[in-house]
Amino acid sequence: MPVYNAPIRDMRFVFYELLDGAELQQLPGFDEVDEETLVAILEEAGRFCAEQLLPINRSGDEEACCYEDGSVRTPQGFKTTYTAFIKAGWNSIAFDPEYGGQGLPKSLHVMVDEMINATNMSFGLYPGLTHGAWTALSSYASDRLKDHYFPKMAEGIWSGTMCLTEPHSGTDLALLRTKAVPQDDGSYLISGSKIFITAGEHDLTENIVHLVLARTPDAPPGIKGISLFLVPKLLDDNQGKPKTPNGVSCGSIEHKMGIKASATCTMNFDSAQGWLVGEVNQGMRAMFKMMNTERLAVGIQGIGIAEAAYQNAAHYARERLQGRAPGGATHPDLPADPLTVHPDVRRMLLTMRSYAQGMRALGLWIARELDIAGKHPDADRRRQADGFIALMTPVAKALFTDLGTEVANLGVQVFGGHGYIREHGMEQFVRDARIAQLYEGTNGIQAMDLAGRKLPMEDGRLIRHLLDPINAYLDSRAHDERLTKFVEPLKTATIQLDRATTHILQAGRNAPAEIGSAATPYLRLLGITALAYLWARMAETGLAGSHGTEAEFYRAKVKTARFFIEHLLPQTHGLTASVLAGASSLMDFDDEAW
Ligand SMILES: Cc1cc2nc3c(=O)[nH]c(=O)nc-3n(C[C@H](O)[C@H](O)[C@H](O)COP(=O)(O)OP(=O)(O)OC[C@H]3O[C@@H](n4cnc5c(N)ncnc54)[C@H](O)[C@@H]3O)c2cc1C
Repeated sequence: MPVYNAPIRDMRFVFYELLDGAELQQLPGFDEVDEETLVAILEEAGRFCAEQLLPINRSGDEEACCYEDGSVRTPQGFKTTYTAFIKAGWNSIAFDPEYGGQGLPKSLHVMVDEMINATNMSFGLYPGLTHGAWTALSSYASDRLKDHYFPKMAEGIWSGTMCLTEPHSGTDLALLRTKAVPQDDGSYLISGSKIFITAGEHDLTENIVHLVLARTPDAPPGIKGISLFLVPKLLDDNQGKPKTPNGVSCGSIEHKMGIKASATCTMNFDSAQGWLVGEVNQGMRAMFKMMNTERLAVGIQGIGIAEAAYQNAAHYARERLQGRAPGGATHPDLPADPLTVHPDVRRMLLTMRSYAQGMRALGLWIARELDIAGKHPDADRRRQADGFIALMTPVAKALFTDLGTEVANLGVQVFGGHGYIREHGMEQFVRDARIAQLYEGTNGIQAMDLAGRKLPMEDGRLIRHLLDPINAYLDSRAHDERLTKFVEPLKTATIQLDRATTHILQAGRNAPAEIGSAATPYLRLLGITALAYLWARMAETGLAGSHGTEAEFYRAKVKTARFFIEHLLPQTHGLTASVLAGASSLMDFDDEAW
C-alpha cells in the first residue's frame, strides 16, 4: 500500500509564512480560526485520510463500482467510510452555518481536499460534487429550495451532481436537448438523457440532488436558451423524508481507465419533477458559478496526486539499492547505493517535489483570495480578489492537472518496472490523475478561456492581477544579492509573459485562430511564471529560517527553489517561442492530409 504523510508542515509554511494566512482571522466569522486551531483540524483530517481513505483506495480501484438493475453499489468499505466521514463533519467544513455547515475558510477546505485526493481521489468525488452543487444553489436558488435541501446536503445524507453532458453535447453545451416543461404548480417536468454523470447514482446517501441543464419549450436556440433545474432522485414528504421515485433512473455506468470507485453514470430523466434555479435561460450563469468552484477543486486533485506520487517515489528511492553513485560508492558497506545517488533520479524527484510544493503555494494563494472575495469588508479588495480568481481559475484547473499527470508518470519512472505493475500503487496514480485533464472542461478549453475570454477582460488588464505583484516584488528585491539567482530568471520569464500576452491580445483581434494556437503554451507559460514567483519568495523565506531550529526544512526549501528556477523555469523560453510562432503552420495544414 502506498505511504502518505499529510504535508501539514508545508501547508503551514505556505499559508502562514508565505501568504500571511493570519490575516484570515481578521475576516468576519473567522476570528476563531487561529494557527493552532487550523493545524489541529489539519492533523485530524490527515489522520482520517491516512487511516480510513488510503486503505480503501486500491481495493476500490480493483473492485470498482457495480451496476445492477438501475442501482449502483460502491466498492466494499466506501459506505462505512462515507458514514464516518460525514459524522466527523468533513463534508460540511465550508458550508454555511445557517444551514448546518461549519463556515470554515475555503483555504482550510482546500488543504483538507488535497489530503482527500492524495489518499482516495474516487472517494473525494462524492462529497466534491455535493460541494459544487451547493455553490451553484447558494448563489441562485430560492430560499425555499435552500431551506429544503441545504440542511441534508450539509449533513451529507443527500449528495449532489451536475448534469450537463449529453452524448452529442460535450464541450459544446449549445447543442443540448434535455427538455423542461413548465407545470401549473411552478415546477417543471424534465426529460432527456445525460451521460458521464459523476455520482449520478450510488448507495452512499439516501437521496441525490441533481442539477440539470435543460431547455424550456420556447427557449432561444444555443447557449442563451439553457436553464438550470434542481431535480431530486426521490421526491420527499414535507418533513424531508424521501418517499416517491421521481422519474430519474441510472441506465448504466462507465468502465474507465481510472477513478473506478467513482460512479460515472448515464442518467435518464423521464418527466422528472424539477424546480428552476435562478432565471429562465440564465442556466449557464449559475452553472459557471458551480464550475468555477469545481475547476479549482479539480486542480486540487492534481496537487493531491502529485504529493502522493512524490512521497512514494522519494520513499522508494531511499530504500531501493541499484548501481553506484557517479563519483564512487556512498554506501560501500551495502551491495549497491540507493537510487537517490543517481543524478537522473534526483532530477525526477526534485521535479516532482518542486511541482507539488509550488502548486500547493499557488493553490492556497487562490484559495485565500476566495476567502477575501467572499468576506473582506473593503469592496475594492474584494474586487481585486475576484479579478485574480477569474484570471487564475483556468490556470489552476489546467496547470495543476497537467502537472499532476506528469508527476504521477515520473513516479512510475522512479520505481522502474515496479512502478508499472500494480503492487506499489504507482500506476493507479497515473490512471486516476488522467481524468482531471478532461472533465470540468478539457484543459484545451481552459486555455481558450484564459487566452480568449479572460485576457481581454478589464480592457486587457486582467493579467495585471498577477503581473503587478510579481513586478512589485522584482523591484523591491532588485538589489538583494542573496536573491539574484532567483529574481533575475523570474524577471526574464515575466518579460516573456508580458510579451506573449501582448501578442495574443493584438494578433487575436484580427485572427481568432491565433488565440487557439497560442492558448495551451500560453497557459503553461503563465502558470510556470506564477510558480517561479512563489518559488523565489519561498527561497527568500527559506533563507531567513535556514539557521534556526528547523534549519533542515528551510534549507530544503531554498534548494528546491534553486532547482525549479535553474531546471524547470527555462521551459518559458520554448513556450514563449511557441506562442509567438502564430497559427499559420497549424492552419496551413491541408484538411485532406489528416
Ligand atoms: C469520468 C468522467 C466523469 C465526468 N463527470 C461529469 C459530470 O459529473 N457531469 C457532466 O456533465 N459531465 C461529466 N463528464 C463529461 C466531461 O466534462 C466531458 O467529457 C468533457 O467536458 C469533454 O466533452 P467530450 O468528452 O464530449 O469531448 P468533446 O467536446 O468532443 O472534445 C473532444 C476534444 O476536442 C476539443 N475541443 C472541443 N471543442 C473545442 C473548441 N471549441 N475549441 C478547442 N478545442 C475543442 C476538446 O478540448 C477535446 O480535446 C465526465 C466525463 C468523464 C469521462
